[in-house]
Amino acid sequence: MTDSNTESSQTLDDSLNDQLGDQAFDQQHIWHPYTSMTNPLPTFKVKRAHGAIIELEDGRQLIDGMSSWWCAIHGYNHPELNKAVTDQLQNMSHIMFGGFTHDPAIQLGKLLLKITPPSLDKIFYADSGSVAVEVALKMAVQFWSAQGKIAKTNFVTPRSGYHGDTWNAMSVCDPVTGMHQIFGSSLPNRIFVPAPQTAFDEEWNPSDIAELEKTLSEKHETIAALILEPIVQGAGGMRFYHPEYLRQAKLLCEKYNILLIFDEIATGFGRTGKLFAWEWAGVEPDIMCIGKGLTGGYMTLSATLTTKKVAETISQGEAGVFMHGPTFMANPLACAVAVRSTELLISQDWQANIQRIEQQLSSHLQPLAQLDFVKDVRVLGAIGVVELTFNVDMKTLQQEFVRRGIWIRPFGKLVYVMPPYIISENELKTLLEQLVDVVKNMKSDMENAS
Ligand code: PMP
Repeated sequence: MTDSNTESSQTLDDSLNDQLGDQAFDQQHIWHPYTSMTNPLPTFKVKRAHGAIIELEDGRQLIDGMSSWWCAIHGYNHPELNKAVTDQLQNMSHIMFGGFTHDPAIQLGKLLLKITPPSLDKIFYADSGSVAVEVALKMAVQFWSAQGKIAKTNFVTPRSGYHGDTWNAMSVCDPVTGMHQIFGSSLPNRIFVPAPQTAFDEEWNPSDIAELEKTLSEKHETIAALILEPIVQGAGGMRFYHPEYLRQAKLLCEKYNILLIFDEIATGFGRTGKLFAWEWAGVEPDIMCIGKGLTGGYMTLSATLTTKKVAETISQGEAGVFMHGPTFMANPLACAVAVRSTELLISQDWQANIQRIEQQLSSHLQPLAQLDFVKDVRVLGAIGVVELTFNVDMKTLQQEFVRRGIWIRPFGKLVYVMPPYIISENELKTLLEQLVDVVKNMKSDMENAS
């Protein structure tokens, strides 16, 4: 770029700032998740966050009901997590993982192997949940190709799932609520089976697994793995299903020689009332993805864990290596804070704390089930969901929540909360009272508007 170009772009920058102001600049130039650039949803400028409180630029304080999409399990600005990051900063913030290793990665690995399914023994660190899913899918394909089974390249998955926004992760998301309509035939064609229908606390209905059995019996020669979110299907509908589905799915995978991948990116680190959701069924996967709460929401980090058998088979195959290696693999800052966050979680009576949250969620939310426009209310661990009979207007609703001093981001027909575990009884009470009041008034608001 020439000097005059630099000068003119600086002038342009200055005038842009003058003309627009920060919030308007954000609206006109910065893309936010799942939004239009020409008609974006409003954003609220955050100044700081601490504990379960998010403080906006204008001084308003919001009680957090989202944990920044499942991650900030210990709340924001936690002194011990801050310390883990600043201590690690004195040594190095990053170093390539090709050819080097370091204490944070090793310590985290030791910790993860203690708390994840006993049969998992090898860890691949990556930089986001979606990438952990890509890694899991690649592991499955390499596992079979290393054994000469080159036709086993496809994946089967229940509908209503969500696994991330990268290409292959997207391909195993629900084909209707996911992004298949937009990306069409550019996405690989996956095999979908019906979503599990028996709810978490209902009596198990054996017909729930029939379609998976049929599909595996017919197509197992082309299937590398079954991928699913154990117990809680998150962004695909916040559905809680029966643990027996996992036990049956595992048996079928063994019968038909198919790997089982658990995506515990959302369900991990205590959210469902177990440290990881596989524990509800006692079923161990061949490959498991974790992320989100791994660093307590401080930084992006994920991991894909697998068994000795899968790792050794891949390593003894023709390629001899696993073909993945992100630049920020095992980032030391992220690993250091993940160690501290995980230690912090497991060193306390976290289960009693999740039960406290679960009870409070139930007692406030369950009465909403009586409203004729509420289809279902469900609570599991520190997740509370109100499913309506109609799609919510996210923009209006979010603004109303903010006006009332709470942070909840609904989608589709769902108004749901998953607060940070450090939320106090009083904060949670206020959050839920406001939520309940907004939901109760929804119908009359809609009627008045029509
Ligand atoms: N899997 C599940 C179950 C998730 O909930 C998410 C994130 N919402 C992902 C994968 C993708 O993770 P990330 O956004 O970190 O890429």
